[in-house]
Amino acid sequence: METYSSLISAQKSFFRTGKTKDVAFRLNALQTLRNAIKQHEEELMQALRADLNKSEFEAYTTEIGFVLEELRYTISHLHSWVKPEKVKTPITHIGSSSYIYSDPYGVVLVIAPWNYPFQLAIAPLIGAIAAGNCAVMKPSELTPKTSEILEKLMSECFPEEYIAVVQGGVETSQGLLNEKFDYIFFTGSVPVGKIIMEAAAKNLIPVTLELGGKSPCIVHEDANLKIAAKRIAWGKYTNAGQTCIAPDYLYLHKNVRDEFLQQLKAAIVELYGSEPLDNPNFTRIVSVRHFERLSAFLNKGEVYVGGKTNPEKLAIEPTVLTEISWDDPIMQDEIFGPILPVLVYSELSEVIEGIHEHPKPLSLYIFSENNSIQEKVLNSVSFGGGCVNDTVYHFASPHLPFGGVGPSGIGSYHGKGSFDTFSHKKSILKQTTRFDIPFRYPNVKNGLKKIKMFMK
Ligand code: NAD
Repeated sequence: METYSSLISAQKSFFRTGKTKDVAFRLNALQTLRNAIKQHEEELMQALRADLNKSEFEAYTTEIGFVLEELRYTISHLHSWVKPEKVKTPITHIGSSSYIYSDPYGVVLVIAPWNYPFQLAIAPLIGAIAAGNCAVMKPSELTPKTSEILEKLMSECFPEEYIAVVQGGVETSQGLLNEKFDYIFFTGSVPVGKIIMEAAAKNLIPVTLELGGKSPCIVHEDANLKIAAKRIAWGKYTNAGQTCIAPDYLYLHKNVRDEFLQQLKAAIVELYGSEPLDNPNFTRIVSVRHFERLSAFLNKGEVYVGGKTNPEKLAIEPTVLTEISWDDPIMQDEIFGPILPVLVYSELSEVIEGIHEHPKPLSLYIFSENNSIQEKVLNSVSFGGGCVNDTVYHFASPHLPFGGVGPSGIGSYHGKGSFDTFSHKKSILKQTTRFDIPFRYPNVKNGLKKIKMFMK
């Protein structure tokens, strides 16, 4: 197995020069990255088309435009984020003042998946640079064209001792995991997340794990069905369902089952046409293995909409499956494709129980016009984050740190959340030497009595 120790020690030496901590250096790096992305926009779109048949619209909104916005936001706020934060000081510490310094970890490893191969590699990198770190990025081997551009872009913008891209598959990842990074930021599947955490534990390396899981989408009987249908169709079928936060399955109230399904069918036709397999802009499935895994799900349940596949194009129609229960194969793991199974419920308690019996989801979506129904769901179930009366949109707000909980992930990022994730929060007490309060010392007369006046 290849070793990366010379790369890591070159980055560690560069980090120790202190250059990456300089705010002007960080801002310059972020601006350089932003310019390079704009300059290579066309090439990036072509790579995303070649790797996943992403349309220009999807490539821009979910990948390129997303990171440009993240860069713009970070550049305009970095000066205020880097300042040590002054916090309160208790009366027992009279004479001193207290601060929290945001300190870069050092050399960080970013491992990215294939589904948004550009965005999910660059968005963490923005946080790493903003916080003053060096970084090694390992993009996905399943999207080779995009990974190639990532490498080219980074080598044009930065010296390797600052930011490096290492391409390769599982072996490469494992080689990198043998190194003593100061932080590991991983986006990918739950099983690999466990491998990453185990490797990190050997050297006590802090981690962020952005994982996946089955994200429920609940449509209650009082929901605005037309709007719900359109927003769910969009959230589910964007990127052909290969989105970690896509609604994985639907919990549909029995009183609105038929009406909602009709609306959903209409929304699918409106967004993707009546023959989506002929739509040149519908994203394909990433690999034959995933195509076959997904196609097998079509053998169980009733196809309400869609159901057709094209093995040459690796394309699957936006599909809705009814007559599904928790025992069916499609309900065992994250689907990660354009197939939406529907469970029907009568009471909200069934929904809450059903979700409780499974691992904590990355996202949850509830469609209801009633505030108490919304709050009941939000307060009864543990999940990473989500939306009321929408899907996926919370991901794109720099004010909402994004991440899972437990089996769906550890930690969060985006906006200031990314800066915080890649910064160690170093608490500092600055003490006066003008006087020395004696109570803490063991030789003070009636010390215990006096200290009890403050510590009670
Ligand atoms: P994956 O876990 O198979 O691979 C992710 C990365 O890990 C790749 O770079 C891969 O080369 C590397 N890798 C794979 N096996 C490894 C091993 N044994 N040891 C070390 N490294 C290894 O995930 P994927 O298939 O690329 O992506 C899909 C998954 O990612 C889904 O589960 C999805 O939910 C999740 N995801 C999560 C988020 C999020 O932000 N939470 C975003 C996108 C995708």
